Amino acid sequence: MEIPFVSFLPMEHALDTELRTAFERVYERSWYIEGTEGKSFENAFAGYCGTKYCVGTGNGLDALMLSLKALGIQKGDEVILPSNTFIATALAITYVGATPVFAEPDIKTFNIAPCHIEDKITQKTKAIMPVHLYGQPCDMDPILELALRYNLYIVEDCAQAHGAAYKGRKIGTFGHAAGFSFYPGKNLGALGDAGAVVTDNEALAEKIKALGNYGSDYKYHHIYQGHNSRLDELQAAFLSAKLPLLDKMNAERRRIAKLYMEGIHHPEIILPYVNPDTEPVWHLFSVRCQKRDALEAFLDTKGIGTNKHYPIPIHLQKCYRDLGFGKGSFPIAEEISATQLSLPMYYGMTEEQIGYVIDTINKF
Ligand SMILES: *Cc1c(COP(=O)(O)O)cnc(C)c1O
Repeated sequence: MEIPFVSFLPMEHALDTELRTAFERVYERSWYIEGTEGKSFENAFAGYCGTKYCVGTGNGLDALMLSLKALGIQKGDEVILPSNTFIATALAITYVGATPVFAEPDIKTFNIAPCHIEDKITQKTKAIMPVHLYGQPCDMDPILELALRYNLYIVEDCAQAHGAAYKGRKIGTFGHAAGFSFYPGKNLGALGDAGAVVTDNEALAEKIKALGNYGSDYKYHHIYQGHNSRLDELQAAFLSAKLPLLDKMNAERRRIAKLYMEGIHHPEIILPYVNPDTEPVWHLFSVRCQKRDALEAFLDTKGIGTNKHYPIPIHLQKCYRDLGFGKGSFPIAEEISATQLSLPMYYGMTEEQIGYVIDTINKF
């Protein structure tokens, strides 16, 4: 049996009419940038998250970068992020000229460990960026407490956690701003690149909107040296078609995760830990195994697609050589990077496919 790591086909079949109608609607109107579709999705997504404002952006990286920029974070400032995340979290920080300061994750949850944050706070620290990695919400209470005590901004990276909740409250509502990605593979994905910021702060929302639209608050009036990063009308229309299915798609991921959790029994494979305060949305189902590369190769020969998130920790990436870190600088991030493997997880996996993944892993 061939089981891809991810497939969009079941989702496309479920929403075939809605997606084609969305395309037709925009095409008939022939208005592709800054129109009614963008606004309407922004309203719907703010409503979904439970925030007052949503500003569409070109992608998730820009959502994070524009948030930091709008908060005035710049050269000379430090921003704390987890040492285990996708590179975009760090790129958002360095794009605004600030210095990324890594804090180690909890090996069990994979998320930034609140106990490793306080040590990293200096006079220059301006913000913390919790990343709800793999769809598991961070332990927000101690992070909020630190932010309050040290007067720091919080910019949540929600790129992998659309709809996840911490203590009954949706992620994206804890920070001063939160960045989402709608990259096709995310829990809510466009049919191309797209992103958004959600916030309760009106002035911040307006500034982010302007920064993503050439720094313009009114046509041809430029109050900031801005960027071009807008949510286009077609992607907004596709996202509006998909948003009503998001909870159902997340429930499906939860169901698959439950079957994996109940079915996989292997002495050498560590299953994900779920903080009982959280409702994860399983962007990825992430296991750990000391023989990870052998497990990956074994599953590959059995037709099961897997992925590593991420094979090289950010502090060891070539592009960040100048930060001066080496092997051993962040041992927990390095351990995760060396042992983590993500199993197939997507809306529309069949019972047979899920069962085959479980049985095969148990035979490793
Ligand atoms: C995908 C992702 C991003 C960036 O989103 P893009 O839309 O690809 O720019 C940022 N942070 C995390 C954790 C991500 O997974």
